[in-house]
Amino acid sequence: MGFQLTDEQKAIRSLAQDFSANEITPFIKRYDEEEILPLEMIRKLGKVGLSNLSIPEQYGGPGIDRISHTLIVEEIAKACAGVATGLEANSLASYPLLIAGNEDQKRNYLTRLTKEGEFASFALTEPEAGSDVSALTTTARKIDGGYLLSGEKCFITNASYADFLVVLAIVPNEKKEKVYSAFIVESKWDGIKIGEKEKKLGLRTSDTASVIFDQVKVPTANRLGEEGEGFKIFLKALMSARPMVGAQSVGIAQAAYEAALNYAKERKQFGKPIAKLQSIQFILADMAMNTEASRLLVHKAAYLLEQNAPSIQHASFAKCFASDTAMKAATDAVQIFGGYGFIRDYPVEKIFRDAKIMQIYEGTNQIQRVVIAKDILK
Ligand SMILES: Cc1cc2nc3c(=O)[nH]c(=O)nc-3n(C[C@H](O)[C@H](O)[C@H](O)COP(=O)(O)OP(=O)(O)OC[C@H]3O[C@@H](n4cnc5c(N)ncnc54)[C@H](O)[C@@H]3O)c2cc1C
Repeated sequence: MGFQLTDEQKAIRSLAQDFSANEITPFIKRYDEEEILPLEMIRKLGKVGLSNLSIPEQYGGPGIDRISHTLIVEEIAKACAGVATGLEANSLASYPLLIAGNEDQKRNYLTRLTKEGEFASFALTEPEAGSDVSALTTTARKIDGGYLLSGEKCFITNASYADFLVVLAIVPNEKKEKVYSAFIVESKWDGIKIGEKEKKLGLRTSDTASVIFDQVKVPTANRLGEEGEGFKIFLKALMSARPMVGAQSVGIAQAAYEAALNYAKERKQFGKPIAKLQSIQFILADMAMNTEASRLLVHKAAYLLEQNAPSIQHASFAKCFASDTAMKAATDAVQIFGGYGFIRDYPVEKIFRDAKIMQIYEGTNQIQRVVIAKDILK
């Protein structure tokens, strides 16, 4: 067992750190204020080999190991969680293809992401089916040569820019059984409408929108796996993706901790830096300790993925613990900044707004606990 990063992993982390320092941090405040997804920034990440992180080399991706993937996501999220979310949308949409795609589907669609700089979305959530995925009502009715897709997906990351979406739908049958199937759907096809971009509490540099499918013709060649396998494919995809939400959360927690630590050393009250006060020291100690514990859980979950031994428990441990830590660290950082923490000129206000979503998307933290409990009690 080793806790050391390899030289290659260190080099990858340092590349991501440099990119964040030079290309994200100096510009991100404006994008956040204007609520714009910095597409060029994400394209530039691709040019230096820091995008499409889940895609193997044979399809034009960086072909990196899962620990390296977490290191990049952590560093980007430390600079801006919205950019990390926009960046990771392609990884998230790639997982169903990597899990169940045939060679043609992988070669065509994954290569479009890596070589053509296209964007993709993972379209699971619906207005009446959030935590309860089984309640989804988007249907893919069988027709000659394919399916007619109808329904609505909501809160879809990068939907306004996606060239294609990976969609979970029900194929209706006479027995009224729920036959879930997954499809690759191109945004340019007739019958697709993208909703207004959502205005959000945080993560304002990311794009979130609904997608309406009105009798969209999807060829059979665009079904992922067999009919009825869709649910399993999407759940497996989430098992790969949740540790990366954990990695984003570690980046947020680390950013909150560093900002609070620096401020505590500089800010003087009662004639001395507030860092000399034991109550502030204890908050900082907890931040440091929980951030490191989160990182270790994230690395363990990534290690298991790398070993081809994905663990639903560890994916949820990483996502849930790290995102609870990020929210707590962000809240405590605002507290350490006092009134200045509430003011938008200071960095922790954005960190605080961005942290909250980590406890919600890719399965809320209540759902992570449901998943863990179900697994340990089975
Ligand atoms: C910015 C953003 C980006 C997103 N990106 C995507 C995306 O790219 N693709 C996608 O498909 N989705 C995406 N989502 C959707 C996200 O995954 C869902 O919002 C999330 O899964 C929760 O679903 P919901 O909002 O319907 O909440 P609900 O399911 O309605 O939950 C409401 C509350 O009830 C609790 N609850 C529900 N069921 C249980 C239970 N059994 N036990 C205990 N508590 C429970 C929840 O934890 C929560 O606190 C995104 C959302 C946001 C806000």
